[in-house]
Amino acid sequence: MAAEITVTQMTAVLDIKSRNMKNVKLLFGLMLLFNVVLKAQTSYIHCGQLFDGERMTEQKTIIVNGKKIQSIKAGFLEGNDTIQVYDYSSETVLPGLMDMHIHIEHESNPKRYEEGFRENEADVALKATQYCERTLMAGFTTVRDLGGTGVNVSLQKAIARGFIPGPRIFTAEKSLATTGGHADPSNGLKKELMGDPGPKEGVINSPEEARQAVRQRYKNGADCIKITATGGVLSVAKDGQGPQFTIEEVKAVVDAANDYGFVTAAHAHGVEGMKRAILGGIHSIEHGTKMNEEIMDLMIKHGTYLVPTISAGKFVEEKAKIPGFYPAVIVPKALEIGPLIQETCGKAYKRGVKIAFGTDAGVSRHGDNAKEFEFMVEAGIPPIEALKMATKHAADLMRVSDELGHIKEGYIADIIVVQDNPLDNISTMNEVVFVMKEGVVYKQKG
Ligand SMILES: [Zn+2]
Repeated sequence: MAAEITVTQMTAVLDIKSRNMKNVKLLFGLMLLFNVVLKAQTSYIHCGQLFDGERMTEQKTIIVNGKKIQSIKAGFLEGNDTIQVYDYSSETVLPGLMDMHIHIEHESNPKRYEEGFRENEADVALKATQYCERTLMAGFTTVRDLGGTGVNVSLQKAIARGFIPGPRIFTAEKSLATTGGHADPSNGLKKELMGDPGPKEGVINSPEEARQAVRQRYKNGADCIKITATGGVLSVAKDGQGPQFTIEEVKAVVDAANDYGFVTAAHAHGVEGMKRAILGGIHSIEHGTKMNEEIMDLMIKHGTYLVPTISAGKFVEEKAKIPGFYPAVIVPKALEIGPLIQETCGKAYKRGVKIAFGTDAGVSRHGDNAKEFEFMVEAGIPPIEALKMATKHAADLMRVSDELGHIKEGYIADIIVVQDNPLDNISTMNEVVFVMKEGVVYKQKG
């Protein structure tokens, strides 16, 4: 309310004095000043239940000041003329969710392969603005984008600058592959179109080229690195799980990435590729489909995270049964690998592997990210642990746990609300009624 009155009053004065340019400039200056003051405004969020990233408690008030959480108090504090109160005294409040594996540029559909020949970067970017918005409105305030064409870097900047609504993006820019491997951009093309992609395009065939490719990603604006340690389901190539990097190449990637403080992720379905990735120092294994106990123990020993992406497994299995949805070479891979991911995730959890939440949205639908919670619980993960995987553990993986993934004093005010208590009803994660990112409200009840 305070904001509206101030702006209306200012506009009225502006109308009267509009002939005098000096005054107009002065008034704009004042409005800007007021805007700064308003942005640092205090608000209270009443929490029926509060999951703070570690524990569930009851009847709290979060005090938000500007972009930060100022403090958390017991009970429901009363607001006043200058303090906005968000009443969620019957709902559950959580930290903004974090999805550690998405592809923000695209979304699967039967025409996905030909789109690559028709769409310019601007087309990709404009279409992706709706994916950014859907993801944020679903309560995901931070995502890790694990591979696209470079438009992902532009989307990250556009969101950070406030041009479009969307989650905070950590992006790998282009995934690194070996020749013919999963994420070689020329796979499946006729020879005239294939070209000879190299480190600049994210294709490497030696430790030297691996370093060069990482440095190129840094130059292009990436802030994490992704490799395709084994074949993959959705590439136009036969093999979906064999190793595609040598251990020396993995080590070179990780070494170069460490120079920039970049977290590294390895897409992997088969055992040998996972083993090389873990021994090479990779920070997270994506999918982990055929992981056995030896690999799980190796991950525990090296502190490697698993990012399961059960949603992607379910999605490709379902769509592979629709004739023509995917090119023929993809169908048998999708039917074999898709159904295995959920069971592997459950086994890895029971054995003690660290898990961070990730969906592979872009393969599945953007905005449906929270379905992963149901899949995780079905796999045998307790609801509170699944919530930690999308908050505390994800923040740990990305080394941002001093400012994100928790509702704590001094943390960035990324806060969401769901209708029900997710410990009793995990499906309520699909019913996000309030979204605040960096203290700005993007969605609220009513
Ligand atoms: Zn992916």
